[in-house]
Amino acid sequence: MALIVQKYGGTSVADPERMRNVARHIAATRAAGHDLVVVVSAMGKATDNLMQLAHQVSANPPSREMDMLLTTGERISMALLCMALHDAGVEAVSFTGSQVGIITDTVHTKAKILEVKGDRVRAAINDKKVAVVAGFQGISTAKEITTLGRGGSDTTAVALAAALQADSCEIYTDVTGVFTADPRVVRQARKVAVLQFDEMLEMAGAGSKVLALRSVEFARNHDVPIHVRSSFTWEEGTWVVGRHHERMKNMEEPVISGVVQDASESKITILGVPDRPGVSADIFEALAKANVNVDMIVQNTSTAGTTDISFTVPKADVATAEPVMSRVAKQLNAGAVTHDDGIAKVSLVGAGMKTSPGVAAKMFRVLADNGVNIEMISTSTIRVSVVVRAAMMQTAVQALHTAFGLDSGDDYAAPLPERK
Ligand code: ADP
Ligand code: ASP
Ligand code: MG
Repeated sequence: MALIVQKYGGTSVADPERMRNVARHIAATRAAGHDLVVVVSAMGKATDNLMQLAHQVSANPPSREMDMLLTTGERISMALLCMALHDAGVEAVSFTGSQVGIITDTVHTKAKILEVKGDRVRAAINDKKVAVVAGFQGISTAKEITTLGRGGSDTTAVALAAALQADSCEIYTDVTGVFTADPRVVRQARKVAVLQFDEMLEMAGAGSKVLALRSVEFARNHDVPIHVRSSFTWEEGTWVVGRHHERMKNMEEPVISGVVQDASESKITILGVPDRPGVSADIFEALAKANVNVDMIVQNTSTAGTTDISFTVPKADVATAEPVMSRVAKQLNAGAVTHDDGIAKVSLVGAGMKTSPGVAAKMFRVLADNGVNIEMISTSTIRVSVVVRAAMMQTAVQALHTAFGLDSGDDYAAPLPERK
């Protein structure tokens, strides 16, 4: 008998029929003798729809109210799933993030989990009930309702699994696992059987949204095995585990395990920045203070004592970052601040890269041969990322997937579920 945390994403609970399907699977898991905690996302595109609604009533919705609004999406799912479970003969009880003691910092719309108390979930398990927890939300140290950033239900699930010392955390979604590229972009993408935490961490960090970055951080720090799988086919999916986990035994370390694309960032450039010590510190301290996540940074070579500094930030943070940068630019006596929405990031990730020279060189050659211009570059020991024009993203991902030998023989067999 195991303790399993199961998380169901938006498409998995998108309508009443899918909700009842999920309830049947939960009933079967219980019947097999396992203890179970369930985390749910908002139904289908509910979160997107709520965000749209907010922007229809306000040009710049206050982030506290945004969190109040967005958390209702998961609240609807948890209650409906409990009703469906009741009909499936499973005793279940729903909880908000705040009720189960998911304590976060005070940064609205992208709060970090500081602690998971989980007392009510433990009590439910002891009572042989299934706890159904609303994902993506918590309560801050200032007793305010917070959300954990887009895709944050994954983080709720893994954080709960860590706190409860669950045997595994199953992430149910609309694809059958983690693929060598987004199967919606590359039809020849292959499902990966096992990935190391470090590889998944780099893939998530590079923008692959199949798992939220912070969920993978939790999994690695607390050694929680993650099983990414489909709630449409229920087949065995992809395991994400530590390097020494028994599932890793006899697995060779691929040079490249995946190609990741990300069109969710914009590039901000400050022109004519004086080239002297402390300037970068001023710029990036101001952004950090405004809770803007900076990804890639490039500083041009200095001409006539000034330089241009470019960096990428999530598109959602541009509205916050730009006025901050205009203020800092003025203080520094720099020139104009511009932003460019037409960029995309393409990354290669693979643990075997460490010991296999020439990956970056080959990547740049393949991109050149396909007419893709590189605007920015960044690397880690197991990742190479480039920024290209968004219009060239698909070409770049396809070409790299083929050139690095990742293409499967046949097209992705089952048609992917439509996203409502
Ligand atoms: P959920 O609502 O279940 O959380 P998400 O949309 O957050 O689902 O994540 C699943 C989606 O992630 C898939 O539909 C797929 O298009 C996308 N995706 C991106 N990269 C990958 C990848 N490497 N492997 C599998 N899916 C990926
Ligand atoms: N509903 C939230 C979102 O759409 C959280 C999640 O689905 O994980 O981002
Ligand atoms: Mg998700």
